[in-house]
Amino acid sequence: MNPIEKLTEYFKEFPGIGERQAKRFVYFLLHKNPTYVKELGDKVLDLKNTIHQCPSCFLFFQSTQDQLCDVCSNPKTDKSSLLIVEKDADYENIKRSKNYSGMYFILGGLVPIVTKDTPTFVRTKELLRNIEKQAKDHSLKEVILALSLNPQGEHTDMYLREILDTLEKTYKFKIVSLGRGLSTGTELEYSDSETIKNALRNRA
Ligand SMILES: [Zn+2]
Repeated sequence: MNPIEKLTEYFKEFPGIGERQAKRFVYFLLHKNPTYVKELGDKVLDLKNTIHQCPSCFLFFQSTQDQLCDVCSNPKTDKSSLLIVEKDADYENIKRSKNYSGMYFILGGLVPIVTKDTPTFVRTKELLRNIEKQAKDHSLKEVILALSLNPQGEHTDMYLREILDTLEKTYKFKIVSLGRGLSTGTELEYSDSETIKNALRNRA
């Protein structure tokens, strides 16, 4: 493999990028001046060195390792409510709607409909641990499932209700979904603040 093919393989791993687009990126870089390419390389390394995940909610943010994020460490955060989203972009969108002041949990993906080894796709173990801790320490009252309204999102919603069943009964919190107020096919990542506000108001 020559360097063009090698780098193409790396770009092909990016979400939504196929062979042709990957190659276009490579040629784009070949046309750029060396400073740009060097800076790009530095920025990528910088990203890995300065951005870490919150050990409690798994949000990416600028920090040293093992530091809690601003939401988890803020005493004003409503600890009786936990909202579960698929990814960071969903979290950002809900935060922007300014209609929710509780805790979050980033699941890291959706549960695929046809595979058995779920835990490798989503953070189920971490979620259970987080919820149990929050139920013990802060009398958790409500868990909000805020997943996209597509088949995989709905499947994940059902799956989470199933695995949270025992904890729900033990600690007597309520599990609700953001379904109502969102139309079928809605992806949280692309929803505007007004839509999210309505969905939060009509959670059930
Ligand atoms: Zn956090």
